[in-house]
Amino acid sequence: MKAAVFDGETVKLKEVSEPQILDSQVLIKVKAVGICGTDIAIIKGDLPTPTPIILGHEFSGEIVQVGSNVDKSWLGKRVTSEINTNIDFDCYYCQRGLYTQCISRKPIGIDVDGALAEFIAVESYLIHEIPRELSFEEATFIEPLAAAYQTFVMMPLNRDDKNIAIFGLGKLGLLLVQVAINEGLKVIVVDGSDKKLALAKKFGADHLINRKSCLNIPEEIKKHTNNLGADIVVDTSGNPDALNNIVNSCRTRGKIHAKSTHGLDVPINLTDIVVREITVYSSRCGPFELAIKGLKTGKIQVKDLISKIYPLSGIEEAFNSYEKDKNNIKTIIKFE
Ligand SMILES: [Zn+2]
Repeated sequence: MKAAVFDGETVKLKEVSEPQILDSQVLIKVKAVGICGTDIAIIKGDLPTPTPIILGHEFSGEIVQVGSNVDKSWLGKRVTSEINTNIDFDCYYCQRGLYTQCISRKPIGIDVDGALAEFIAVESYLIHEIPRELSFEEATFIEPLAAAYQTFVMMPLNRDDKNIAIFGLGKLGLLLVQVAINEGLKVIVVDGSDKKLALAKKFGADHLINRKSCLNIPEEIKKHTNNLGADIVVDTSGNPDALNNIVNSCRTRGKIHAKSTHGLDVPINLTDIVVREITVYSSRCGPFELAIKGLKTGKIQVKDLISKIYPLSGIEEAFNSYEKDKNNIKTIIKFE
């Protein structure tokens, strides 16, 4: 089969052998894969992975084969998959139901072969059926949307949490805008792309700040938050320069939430965090059930987030053009 293989230097389309499923696995014929900032971080060397590796972890497809221990009714189903495989169901975290933090976990497309291939073998405990209402392309948003929901799983809101400032309007930021609005928060967004800011406004964001033309972002945010700073400030930008703006934009006793997984090593004003008793949160993979429900009910819109669609044969161009176009939100690889 054809697969997009990262060899430690570049991603190339190669002929590789089809995966053989274990008794506990299903074989998925891949239909769509979303390119993620994490994939870019891997290619740039910011996030080390074993090589060679097939990338791709935001994906959807159809089950074409099931292992002997898997319910046969899964055959033919349209599915997506969670990404943390190799779960031991036994460690400290698994005993507490925290499978995404299992000490044995290996993320698909990051530590083990991913979905930028014609077929992928996946443990049956990871799969979720895609509702009829969703296309395969829309279903590639389930994984990142689950991560957006996880923001509020890890950081429960209290009565003083009225507003949120979101730095960075990539795919995750624009999903988070919608989740935050559904949570009843006033939303302030910061990005360098007018096109992305306009999209955030379309989704219902209250205040737009273009970081390229705004001379003092924290002061601008204070204007919209009773001169206090935002109750919650989230970084989805992956931009080291944004970090101290984020601290300065947060009110005393407010919350900062880190969402970027770009392998960044960044300086941050810890003293200001301590003195103003700001709480720092972070979150990663989230509940697929919430994400599927959000998409199925139409509470979360993703069609506008699809910027480019390539066939698998266009994978090299898809990666090459990903970062050049600052208005690009989500590139999808669509299979026949
Ligand atoms: Zn475990």
